[in-house]
Amino acid sequence: MERPEIGISFAPELRLFVAAPRREGRSTVTTDGASTLGHVVESLGVPLTEVGALLVGGRPVRHAHIPDGGEEVAVHGVPRPQPLAGPPRFLLDIHLGTLARRLRLLGVDAAYENPDVGDAALAARSAAEQRVMLTRDRGLLHRRELWAGAYVYSHRPAEQLRDVLSRFAPPILPWSRCTSCNGLLREAAKDSLHGRLEDGTEHAYDVFAECADCGQVYWRGAHHASLNAIVEAAVHEFGTGTVRVG
Ligand SMILES: [Zn+2]
Repeated sequence: MERPEIGISFAPELRLFVAAPRREGRSTVTTDGASTLGHVVESLGVPLTEVGALLVGGRPVRHAHIPDGGEEVAVHGVPRPQPLAGPPRFLLDIHLGTLARRLRLLGVDAAYENPDVGDAALAARSAAEQRVMLTRDRGLLHRRELWAGAYVYSHRPAEQLRDVLSRFAPPILPWSRCTSCNGLLREAAKDSLHGRLEDGTEHAYDVFAECADCGQVYWRGAHHASLNAIVEAAVHEFGTGTVRVG
């Protein structure tokens, strides 16, 4: 079979996925003449979750395009914000616990399982619940079962949060979700919480909320200043739906 040679170049944000010699502009690839362009890109190390437009000679083609010899391919990253086929819901792998709590703090639906359930179970849950798999594990992003996935670039939680918010632009509803379990908070009458609060807390505060799932009680003032700073920075940069302080 003929083995066509094509030229290929990757957007800057995709270059960390490919071998070092391919990171500087254009390189060439010899294909098998039968593989799709999507497969070729993936085989070079780039998860398809990270791939936006594929251009051949400047014209967009599908992942199923089978490249001919001499074609010049440009691989773009995903647009930001990236459209999703459903509401922005997320599933985070074991290493992203801090990011999960920060997303919940902003009211973003962020499921997280600890202990580690393994890649197969994570991918299956992503598919079953239509959640975007967030991970720094490239192998996990190559799994076919994923409903959607996204590589988290930084290992620093503050940058991870900005990465996810800028990529998916989920509505921000601070203080609406339980940071422990991802459940939704509802307002709770002080009387109903008697016996579940320390005396000092009960006397000092009047506005309470509790998690509809795990029963964790929250109150104004329960949030450390650093959490307020995270919320304010996110709202300032990315905006919100309705800001609810409580
Ligand atoms: Zn909860």
